Amino acid sequence: MMSPSVDKINWDLTPLYVDSSDQSLQADLAAARGAAEQFRASYYGHINSTEINPKRFSKALHEYEVLQLKILRPYLYAQLLFYANSSEPEHPRLLAQVREAWQKIHEETLFFELEILALDDNDYTPLVMDAAVSPYSHYLTTVRAHAPYTLGESVEQALKRKDLSGKDAVVQLFDELTTGLTFRFHFPGEEEEREATGEELLSLIYHQDRDVRESAFATFLDKHAEQSLVLTSCFNNILLDHGKEAELRNYPDLMTPTHLSSETAPEMVEKMLAVTEAHYPLAQEYFELKRQLLGYKKLKNTDLYAPVAKETRKYSFTEALELVVNAFRTFDPGMAEIVERLVETGRLDAAPRVGKSGGAFCMGLYPGADPYVLLNFTGTLRDVSTLAHELGHAVHYVLSGEQNFFHYHAPLPLAETASVFGEMLLTRTLLDQEPDRQTRIALLCAKIEDIIATTFRQTVLTRFEQAAHARRGEGLLAADDLCELWLAENARLLGDHVEMIPAYRWGWSYISHFIHARFYCYSYVFGELLVLSLYQKYRSEGSSFVPAYRELLRAGGSVRPDTLVKPMGIDLASADFWAQGYGLVRELIEELRLLIVEERRGV
Ligand SMILES: [Zn+2]
Repeated sequence: MMSPSVDKINWDLTPLYVDSSDQSLQADLAAARGAAEQFRASYYGHINSTEINPKRFSKALHEYEVLQLKILRPYLYAQLLFYANSSEPEHPRLLAQVREAWQKIHEETLFFELEILALDDNDYTPLVMDAAVSPYSHYLTTVRAHAPYTLGESVEQALKRKDLSGKDAVVQLFDELTTGLTFRFHFPGEEEEREATGEELLSLIYHQDRDVRESAFATFLDKHAEQSLVLTSCFNNILLDHGKEAELRNYPDLMTPTHLSSETAPEMVEKMLAVTEAHYPLAQEYFELKRQLLGYKKLKNTDLYAPVAKETRKYSFTEALELVVNAFRTFDPGMAEIVERLVETGRLDAAPRVGKSGGAFCMGLYPGADPYVLLNFTGTLRDVSTLAHELGHAVHYVLSGEQNFFHYHAPLPLAETASVFGEMLLTRTLLDQEPDRQTRIALLCAKIEDIIATTFRQTVLTRFEQAAHARRGEGLLAADDLCELWLAENARLLGDHVEMIPAYRWGWSYISHFIHARFYCYSYVFGELLVLSLYQKYRSEGSSFVPAYRELLRAGGSVRPDTLVKPMGIDLASADFWAQGYGLVRELIEELRLLIVEERRGV
């Protein structure tokens, strides 16, 4: 059933449009613009206590949904075309055109949510209780959560416009500067030094040779240090902008907007971070094992992802797909069927190509349409994990496809549930069927390092970001201040076990999350720990866990995370829950310790 060659796994976008010159794409754009104008003409200024009733309100919501779907189809299609081949000049042109249309429609319809926000509680409550409106109730609740912090339409529009030359311009500058940096580096096995991209250098963090790892990362960081004037200014301005916005909107806390959009309670997040910090010694136990495996006197931070196996096994795409499908099948045959269908109907683009975007992603479209998955599969174990990760996302989108447009995407903290769970299923399958002890050691290390990167490291990042915001409130930060905050937070995790290379003081300067989205990093911690405890539950409850897990995915973004997991007996407000996740990490570390002992004894 599956194609043997990875080059043949290309996605088929024709269910959306025939090609970039498809007449129906331009027709859809025009229709979406028309619908937005019509929508504004019908409802602008009319979502108020005297004119709105449940029937009219639900009609408006439905029309709003339909018009969003109309623009979404060309918008997502243009993105997919561009990611698959950006060197075709028609593709960036189309993307720009569609983005502009998207922006226009956004401006035209911005009033709708603002008027919903402005409704008095006494007028709003009976509306949302009505059967005609209740299918939209969760969406409305998330919109209304911003009510206390929203300003009038003209102020909101003015802020958005000033963002173009303010915050957005800083982000643009940061992106252009960092993606435009080139590096001189002598790659192992090559005759002479050559120009390299940042991605190429960062990928050497997994290289076998210790000196290569260190010099590649140092080269990368030193180049950023040369740009410290601009980078420090970008950070200062983003921090200041956020502080000013918090003042204007009267947020009780700098993290409030993130909590509102992530639907997380502030106390819960703080508890989760504190529990993670309390488990830093667990990470340090792993660092010690890794040091022993590598046979070093002292570990450096550039050794944390060093390979522990001499030879790295390669997988064909067919093999990889079979592994992943089987991992899903042992858990839930229905999920394996979904994955097989997606492969057969051309929703995957697997091989690396010139002009194709790097990395990997799964793009959910809208309810009722299957998602698309982009990969750059080269046959490493990491690529097999990525396949499991992205297909996990894909299964999530297929299952949440029965929700309406507003509830299709899971909120940020839940967005990585199915993907990380898929990786976990794959790791267990690989570990259980792998006869070679060295390979099992390598598999375990890879999994533990992954978990450390998404929990402990992201907690360090979040604490650094909190500290930087707090310090900016007191005044301008010098580059050295940022370096020192960064080193201090990292030192708490690494302790005496890991020595940071000198250039690592610039480690903060390239992390784009700090620039793009405030306090984004804690959602990684949330996602990973939730999956670890869900997996623990699966182990103890067996197949009776599966239907509850399916329900969780099926709900998409229709329920708050804490409410959603409650029926599974999970209380996100309890510190014990977060600590449970680390119980599984401890087990993995013990499993590794045992293998290392066996390996030494040669039994
Ligand atoms: Zn993901």
